[in-house]
Amino acid sequence: MSHSSQLFSLILLFSTKTMDDNTKALNFLEQIIEEDLSNGLDANKLRFRFPPEPNGYLHIGHAASICLNFGLGLKYKAPVNLRFDDTNPTKEEQEYVDAIKHDIKWLGFKWDKELYSSDYFQQLYNWAVLLIKNGKAYVDDQSSEVMAQQKGTPVKEGTNSPFRDRSVAENLALFEKMKQGDFEEGTHVLRAKIDMTSPNMLMRDPIIYRILKRAHHRTGTDWNIYPMYDWTHGESDYIEQVSHSICTLEFKNHRELYDWFLDQVYDTELLRPKQREFARRNLSYTVMSKRKLLQLVEENLVNGWDDPRMPTISGLRRRGYTPEAIRKFSDLAGIAKRDNVTDVALLEFCIKDHLNKTAPRVMAVLNPVKVLITNYPKGGEEWLDAENNPEDESAGSRKVPFAREIYIEREDFREQANKKFFRLKLDKEVRLKNAYIIKANSVVKNDAGDILEIHCTYDPLSKSGSGTPESQRRVKGTLHWVSVKHAVPAEVHLYDRLFSHEAPDAQKEVDFKTFINQDSLIINKNALVEPSLTAANIGDRFQFQRLGYFNIDDDSTPEKLVFNRTVPLRDSWAKTEKRK
Ligand code: ATP
Ligand code: MG
Repeated sequence: MSHSSQLFSLILLFSTKTMDDNTKALNFLEQIIEEDLSNGLDANKLRFRFPPEPNGYLHIGHAASICLNFGLGLKYKAPVNLRFDDTNPTKEEQEYVDAIKHDIKWLGFKWDKELYSSDYFQQLYNWAVLLIKNGKAYVDDQSSEVMAQQKGTPVKEGTNSPFRDRSVAENLALFEKMKQGDFEEGTHVLRAKIDMTSPNMLMRDPIIYRILKRAHHRTGTDWNIYPMYDWTHGESDYIEQVSHSICTLEFKNHRELYDWFLDQVYDTELLRPKQREFARRNLSYTVMSKRKLLQLVEENLVNGWDDPRMPTISGLRRRGYTPEAIRKFSDLAGIAKRDNVTDVALLEFCIKDHLNKTAPRVMAVLNPVKVLITNYPKGGEEWLDAENNPEDESAGSRKVPFAREIYIEREDFREQANKKFFRLKLDKEVRLKNAYIIKANSVVKNDAGDILEIHCTYDPLSKSGSGTPESQRRVKGTLHWVSVKHAVPAEVHLYDRLFSHEAPDAQKEVDFKTFINQDSLIINKNALVEPSLTAANIGDRFQFQRLGYFNIDDDSTPEKLVFNRTVPLRDSWAKTEKRK
């Protein structure tokens, strides 16, 4: 066991054995909620939301936010809304909405209401009019470049727009014209009138509406103006009466603006939402921003959003990950206040741990060489008992066919090898998993010296599980195998990390795509699997004994089986790293 997997085992043991849900230490967000409750917040008023923008597929970072928000919902028996934050018609699509819903359900969570920020466009517009009437917003006719120049810098105050002191009547008339589509894109914006000298740059008269003459995936061409994120988000939380609006750290300095916007519409009879921030989940050896993931898809560097190398939920699902493993990962990785990077080995540990308990064991040979058992009856065959999962008695057993000719892994045989090679070598014995002890006697080679066939003899009394003294005889190695006559051909996709650099998008001046691992997908068309696998269905997961965990790919058919390697049993990456 490697050092890191030992560490993870300890973490797991610790988290499952000594801390169940009731005794587990509270994370800092739970502490905030507990404090609010003890200060008189009615527990029935707790409400959370998960607010994806439908401009891409969900990734493992979103899973952290999903597990957090829905986890709080479960813990406090409070509703959790799914709110699509769909204020940008240029990037959003129905395809993404559907994929996001599917992924959240697959992760095992249920939302209370399915809501859309776009449903609030009228309300947001009405409130913007209210802002204008209260002298808190104005229409600015300047170009974005000029406005940027007036914005100042963190150490230099901004300057007021010449349009800042327009009359309410003029602002109302102009805003109405923006809405009616009388102006071109980029010619006018509505800005909040806050403070151009604020130390918080976001408070320097932020834009709340811009003109965009684009069709929206839900409101069609009803609107020529669209609200900005900051204006929309807090007010949507308020409309939905979300008690705790949890977002990632980069929004920390937006909180002041969030509160300012709420102040403009807040009615003391209603609950006032609270924004709190936690650190984004970052994962080593991958990128997580939707913009970058979209680039990988659009430039055909991967086969779509659900390519099994992608850190998307759909990619991980196709790769063979289980919702349980992803939830466990979110739990173990925890909720942090500061930015950090989680080692992808923890995610791999979580899936291995879950599949070890749940995946049936089967035999498959990826790089076959033929073995002829010379003393086995010609034409004979027998169906041997094979345990499906030693970790789970209820998984039962199956029959695997054995015959005179079998395949083993080419790398499991050497003519000569030192004592540490516990596999098959000339004049030595190994056990065939679920079957007999065999001994290698000779090899048949072609002119080039490649081994075509290994001739062995078997010990007929050594059959596994037969109870004879010979069956209990201990030999050092055990090999997996498949019968030549019964083997089923399969294509196996061997996936590795998509990037060879630990932090591909943190390298200044080097494009993250430079670090794509050229060996991240190896397609093996020579694999042979045991016949029980012809009955398997898309998505089914297995342990190919001694090799790793594999699942049946979405494109697999009974005529052409396709497997994805979810994760190898041993961490080959750690070895390569050490060798460097
Ligand atoms: P990206 O930067 O990947 O495009 P985003 O923040 O723009 O992500 P949204 O759809 O706006 O994506 O995110 C929905 C919710 O998920 C937000 O509350 C956001 O804070 C949260 N979220 C997004 N990425 C992460 C992450 N890496 N870790 C934790 N939470 C995240
Ligand atoms: Mg976002």
